Amino acid sequence: MNKINILDLDFEGLKSFLNSLKISQIHAKSIYYNIYKNNSLDFNINSNITNDKKNKDNNKLRNLMSKNDIEILKQNSNIGNLVENKSQVSKDGTIKKIFKTYDNQFIESVIIPHTKDKYTFCISSQIGCAMSCKFCVTGLHGLKRNLTAGEIIEQVLLLSKIVKPTAIVFMGQGEPINNYKNVKISIMNLKDHHGFNFSAKKITVSTSGLIPGLIKLQKETGIKMAYSLNATNQNDRTRIMDVNKIIDFESGLSLLKSYLTELNKNSKRNKLMIEYVMFDGFNDNDSNLEKLIAIAKDLKYVFINLIPYNEHEFAYADFELKKSEKCSYFFKKLMDNDIQAFIRYEHGSDIYAACGMLKHKLVN
Ligand code: SF4
Repeated sequence: MNKINILDLDFEGLKSFLNSLKISQIHAKSIYYNIYKNNSLDFNINSNITNDKKNKDNNKLRNLMSKNDIEILKQNSNIGNLVENKSQVSKDGTIKKIFKTYDNQFIESVIIPHTKDKYTFCISSQIGCAMSCKFCVTGLHGLKRNLTAGEIIEQVLLLSKIVKPTAIVFMGQGEPINNYKNVKISIMNLKDHHGFNFSAKKITVSTSGLIPGLIKLQKETGIKMAYSLNATNQNDRTRIMDVNKIIDFESGLSLLKSYLTELNKNSKRNKLMIEYVMFDGFNDNDSNLEKLIAIAKDLKYVFINLIPYNEHEFAYADFELKKSEKCSYFFKKLMDNDIQAFIRYEHGSDIYAACGMLKHKLVN
């Protein structure tokens, strides 16, 4: 029998699994606690919990597992299976980890530091990617496979051993909506109050353009949405993003407009992040700016994340992609028009951890 990765299971799934092994379901809570609150990816469940002096729930978790039950659990399961292959620290403090999977593939996860004690975890959802965005190294060699829910969660748990996240973004390798089921399970597990207890409002899922799936995921989990727009009309977007042939430019924006209006009926706090990678001479002229302003005003509940393009030799558009110097100009004009905007500082470009550069040096 293949071993079960406990990180693939939600709390109810874990209870059923214990049941199938004839281990009392009462231990699900301590196993979950050990993994997600103690951040222990081992089977020293009893000693980890009893030694945890900070654990206010200690008394509630007094039902220690018998040696026999732990042995049965060990024989039938593992807690995670990623192995750290490489760790790099950028000049700006960004940390990139490369993990090896059970089938000898590699994935990357990044810790992005902000102001004091604030850290965003950027995690991967697939090995490679099928979307072939022309500016992205990850898309260059296609999709190898989806990550399991456990592999997605384990990235967060392993990075959490270094610092605690204040935000988690699904912006690493892969198109998260193409791995819908496992991405959803991972988000639900990270939210679960029995375990990691991380607010969905601090989790952002970015799509290249699979908008119906993104909206469905938001409805089902409460995450924040991000849309990688990168152009201001159908033709330009199709030149750099094949996904535009599946859902065209205007239809995508129209779906988002309807949903954002519905979502913000009461709270007005559910804004979409529009990511706009800026390329010299392609999407950075004044008419692009005007169209971007018009799009933002039309969608209303958005903010714009301007991203300086990280030049690399693996881009494969039908024209040369070059970094734009107009991010600050766009930023000012957007703000002048009362549109919230940010420039995404180029974190970790010296270690190929920045946007569009993941999987660099792993591709060949
Ligand atoms: S930008 Fe995102 S969706 Fe596009 S190829 Fe890269 S990883 Fe895939």
